[in-house]
Amino acid sequence: MPLLEVHRVSKSFEGFRALNDVSLTVEEGSLYALIGPNGAGKTTLFNLITGRYTLDAGRVVFAGQDISHTPTHRIIHCGIGISFQRAIPFPSMTVLENVTLAVLALDRKTRDFARSLLSYGVAATRAEEIISWVGLDDLKRQVAASLSQGDLKRVDIALALASKPRLLLLDEPLAGLSRTERAQMVGFIRELLRSLGTTLLFTEHDTEAVLQLAGRIMVLHRGSVLAEGTPDEIRSHPQVQEAFLGREA
Ligand code: ADP
Ligand code: MG
Repeated sequence: MPLLEVHRVSKSFEGFRALNDVSLTVEEGSLYALIGPNGAGKTTLFNLITGRYTLDAGRVVFAGQDISHTPTHRIIHCGIGISFQRAIPFPSMTVLENVTLAVLALDRKTRDFARSLLSYGVAATRAEEIISWVGLDDLKRQVAASLSQGDLKRVDIALALASKPRLLLLDEPLAGLSRTERAQMVGFIRELLRSLGTTLLFTEHDTEAVLQLAGRIMVLHRGSVLAEGTPDEIRSHPQVQEAFLGREA
């Protein structure tokens, strides 16, 4: 069953076409990757899906519901998890405190942690579970600002998981990580799908990592779809080989 359907979306900035007639379908329980060089339009597509940008044309449907013109905070409550992208909300607080506050803030019944229906204790217990999921048990009492890049990415994902999303959007989860941290993150993303059943849509720069990880891949180039398909289809696509894999077509 499709969980996310993007129908023919376009977006321009002052006459510049950042995205041009892009469609994709993400099946529930799958890993879907968006790849393409810098400026291809990957983050713009995320911003359209999550309501940070308004669509010029097209439609976004999530779990059968049209969310094309839904504001970001409502989209999170619909079941889409969005990473905070490195900006940990409360850097001087511990990992556990940050995730607990996210659980309170993202509690489906409310939008405001001061008025959450959950008690702090219940939220903290849920936060501890999420922290275990992302493998940060040993660091949960550490102040967020003291963590390494790789661990901060895990906190970021923990924050996004606080709303128990059906679909998690990750924008370049492997960027800026060391080789070891990348390998751990790839394993961790697989585990998210396997154990939590979280559907994932992510962007990435590193084509090789994506070919190993994703079930389907879309290649964006200058705002348009260059190719879409399984890793094998993408690997053998002549234009993709030429443009991204550094091989002669
Ligand atoms: P990617 O994430 O694939 O690197 P982006 O989606 O960030 O690419 O950007 C695609 C193009 O759209 C770029 O040329 C970028 O400069 C432009 N763009 C993105 N967001 C904005 C914005 N808010 N205002 C103006 N131009 C933008
Ligand atoms: Mg980007």
